[in-house]
Amino acid sequence: MSSSTERRKHLIVISAPSGAGKTTVARHLLARFPQLRFSVSATTRPRRPGELHGTDYFFMTREQFENAVRAGELVEYEEIFGHLYGTLRSQVEEALRRGDFLLFDVDVKGALSLRQAYPEETFLLYIAPPSMEELRRRLQQRGTETEKQIHQRLQRAAMELSFQGAFDAVIYNERLDETLRQAELIVAGLLGIEVPAPAP
Ligand code: 5GP
Repeated sequence: MSSSTERRKHLIVISAPSGAGKTTVARHLLARFPQLRFSVSATTRPRRPGELHGTDYFFMTREQFENAVRAGELVEYEEIFGHLYGTLRSQVEEALRRGDFLLFDVDVKGALSLRQAYPEETFLLYIAPPSMEELRRRLQQRGTETEKQIHQRLQRAAMELSFQGAFDAVIYNERLDETLRQAELIVAGLLGIEVPAPAP
């Protein structure tokens, strides 16, 4: 048991083009597997209604973020739609020290950077939208972006789609219940446990 535990990948990274359903999958996995902890990123993006500092993100000014970069406090960071997002080294190092499993919700480049930084510890899971048309429909339905922002997100999605071959597993999110089930199976395998029974 202990030797296989040592070989387990403790950094489970979920990535996907924006609107592919990655955040829904991440939230579901965190609810289903109490042994998973969410890696709270730093960002300069303004807080959305309902988001909490320290739970969803560490919200920072650009100056605070740039100071953190200079101080080497970020494992990776990207500028996405005009805001900076990055993984805090302290989150990762503490989890690895404690033997915790961390779940990341980061963009595709961030996922690849995490693997470069922690090659032995990282598992990359890609959630693919069924098609660009479906992605557009979902973004429009979500209603949190303007048409211009949707256009930018779709352009970025096309770039991000080209990276999926570099991931350890890809799930095509056509039916959400099926996607969640597949993600559960993958994560249970990584944790070395049975898939927990659904809540009654
Ligand atoms: P949102 O603003 O919708 O919360 O996130 C926008 C994008 O930033 C999403 O694709 C999300 O996965 C990504 N993101 C969030 N945190 C990080 C991070 O720490 N690093 C990177 N590279 N991307 C992140």
